[in-house]
Amino acid sequence: MVEVKLDRITKRFGNFEAVKELTLDIKDGEFLVLLGPSGCGKTTTLRMIAGLETPTEGRIYFGDRDVTYLPPKDRNISMVFQSYAVWPHMKVYDNIAFPLKVKKYPENEIKERVKWAAELLQIEELLDRYPAQLSGGQRQRVAVARAIVVEPDVLLMDEPLSNLDAKLRVAMRAEIKKLQTKLKVTTIYVTHDQVEAMTMGDRIAVMNQGRLLQVGPPTEVYLKPNSLFVATFIGAPEMNIVDATVVENDGLFLEGDGFKILLPDDFREILESYIGKDVLFGVRPEHMTVKGVSTLEHVTRTAEIEGIVDFIEALGTDTIVHAKVGGNIIKIKLPGHIPLPVGEKIKIEIDLDNIHVFDRDTEKAII
Ligand code: ATP
Repeated sequence: MVEVKLDRITKRFGNFEAVKELTLDIKDGEFLVLLGPSGCGKTTTLRMIAGLETPTEGRIYFGDRDVTYLPPKDRNISMVFQSYAVWPHMKVYDNIAFPLKVKKYPENEIKERVKWAAELLQIEELLDRYPAQLSGGQRQRVAVARAIVVEPDVLLMDEPLSNLDAKLRVAMRAEIKKLQTKLKVTTIYVTHDQVEAMTMGDRIAVMNQGRLLQVGPPTEVYLKPNSLFVATFIGAPEMNIVDATVVENDGLFLEGDGFKILLPDDFREILESYIGKDVLFGVRPEHMTVKGVSTLEHVTRTAEIEGIVDFIEALGTDTIVHAKVGGNIIKIKLPGHIPLPVGEKIKIEIDLDNIHVFDRDTEKAII
């Protein structure tokens, strides 16, 4: 186990900056998820931690050890890839034993360790098979067993579940998380799947265009996003965002197309400098409800706006109401099956302690 420190690392490929001045401390035993859209620099960051790429600038530390220029074999890391990368010509046993053989472990210890890893991943029955005789999920278990068998200081995973079907992905998600909790190995896990990030990470580091935007526990990143990008990247259906103006008129209001919301007094200090200015107003679908149909739980301060039902998405356990408010369509997530008629006028209640306001120019969160 080891703490990993990234100190202002930048990676340039020619003139292109794939990773820009990234600073991040990953704690000993932590499960950190690097989350972001395709091309944001997640894999490049992971490859620098692995030693497969060298940073153009900045330093990487494992504990107090500067590993910036150390080759992968001297870092005591293991990597699991999306493509499994198990060797087709070797039986499962030999695949798992391979890194131990490279490190010249004695034969009896190899046997013990392979048994230990195979039991943890529940693949003891498969040790005699070739990868071609395994399902995708089983192959990925072999890849994970091979990664942990050396008891690495740092476990690096790059979209390890992407090739599995949806159901298996959910099952493996829980298993990898449980395994990591048991082994307490410092783990850095790359994904573009926000649900994977939310459910697996002790903390999530959200990246976009080579930059680290926010890092924090899943609920913090979800409830207190620091920017428009983080707010809309995490959450499904995504956060509603509409144009609004901060207005002072015998009280402080957020006014936009088809709505005017009176804000509690404690918002004044934060929004003072935005009075008269255009902002972006955000609310998550589950932080609103339709009056008379459903209620918001544990909510103290609300505002009410009017809308017209435009479309109903019945998901079984939830209903997503698409409502027209002025010229905008907003989504409201209600628990259960709520068959509201299209065209019906509704009163929408908003939880004022879960609203978001973003600066239009910088797209940074004000509230
Ligand atoms: P994905 O989820 O699609 O793998 P990612 O967030 O992991 O995306 P990276 O693979 O880190 O993104 O790539 C970041 C950017 O750097 C991309 O624009 C990519 O094209 C570029 N890039 C990566 N490796 C190289 C390379 N060896 N040479 C030039 N450009 C590269």
